[in-house]
Amino acid sequence: MKQETKLIRTQTPRTQNREHSTPLYLTSSFVFDDAEQGRAIFADEIEGNIYSRYSNPNTTEFIDKVCELEGAEDGLAFASGMAAVFASFAGLLNSGDHVVAYRAIFGSTHQLLTTLFPRWGITSTYIDAENPADLEAAITPATKMIFLETPSNPGLELVDLEWLCTTIKQKYPHIIINVDNCFATPYLQKPIAYGVDLVSHSATKYMDGQGRVLGGIVVGKKELIKEMLFFIRHTGPAMSAFNAWLLSKSLETLPLRMDRHCSNALSVAQMLEANENVELVRYPFLPSHPQYNLAKKQMTQGGGIVTFIIKGGFNNAKKFMDALEMILISSNLGDSRSIATHPASTTHSKLSESERESIGIFAGSIRVSVGLENIDDILADISQALQKSV
Ligand SMILES: *Cc1c(COP(=O)(O)O)cnc(C)c1O
Repeated sequence: MKQETKLIRTQTPRTQNREHSTPLYLTSSFVFDDAEQGRAIFADEIEGNIYSRYSNPNTTEFIDKVCELEGAEDGLAFASGMAAVFASFAGLLNSGDHVVAYRAIFGSTHQLLTTLFPRWGITSTYIDAENPADLEAAITPATKMIFLETPSNPGLELVDLEWLCTTIKQKYPHIIINVDNCFATPYLQKPIAYGVDLVSHSATKYMDGQGRVLGGIVVGKKELIKEMLFFIRHTGPAMSAFNAWLLSKSLETLPLRMDRHCSNALSVAQMLEANENVELVRYPFLPSHPQYNLAKKQMTQGGGIVTFIIKGGFNNAKKFMDALEMILISSNLGDSRSIATHPASTTHSKLSESERESIGIFAGSIRVSVGLENIDDILADISQALQKSV
């Protein structure tokens, strides 16, 4: 079956009630047919649900679908994207271990690496995506993981996954390559196909796609997921059955939604590039993107996020955002509704100006999460706001 079909047809086995759509399993625990079955499930001799902190039919269905889409062996679902990203570190790293991370990563992930993990003896080094040679220079004998996002938020810089998984992985096979694939989604980009070990996601974004629930997932090599299982069982960041049920339904329409997000975003990017009040536009599938060829190689479409720099800095950025009539100002992304964000004053306000500029965020930068509205309405709102922003 093709991936669109699998996302619809992967389903928890029907109960004796013969339901068509998977029911919601709101149960904290599960019963055993007899004492012997309880013993065997606890001993890992047979598979079975024990307690919803460990597994639940709804979370299993959601995980199975993401594994199908990412081409992963196994996975674990979490209460939020940050719980997933945190577990992908904390479930595998020990005191003394070192992480090499690309600089342009999600704000809370940056806080983990720079503030929380050093307290536990886990250190990290940041590198810039535009200097691939920096990666090898940053690797030490203690390096256990390489972490990155591609495309990055909000600068939309890319990391060459094929290069990473051939050149670097061959030389350092023991280093775990961990990719946050939230911006692209597995529909547009499949890091595991290149040899990446782990993929993490905020399911809050495109997987839900309608701005309703938080969720996270980590998928990848079976032995790594097994190692992380200890962490999820004993620390309890599990996804709720309700969120898993909703997210599994949402995945049925992920390909359809992403096709529309991408075609709308490309139109927005092209329109912005032609506007005289705009200094620069970044979108992976615009030929002006410095890594356009790489984007075409490792992504099937350019994604739903467009970042641009308005002429006149924060002053005009504010005028633009306030002039929008349909598009609302929020820090979220990946919603059916288009959203405008000013990263320098909100999501990335904790970074210094020079840290922001090193990852392509300027006072006039605006990130647009292009939604599923009719493209004519999106373009009309952005053009009228641009006119009022000078
Ligand atoms: C939103 C986001 C996260 C965190 O996810 P939550 O569900 O908000 O906890 C992590 N990485 C990226 C790239 C994100 O966009």
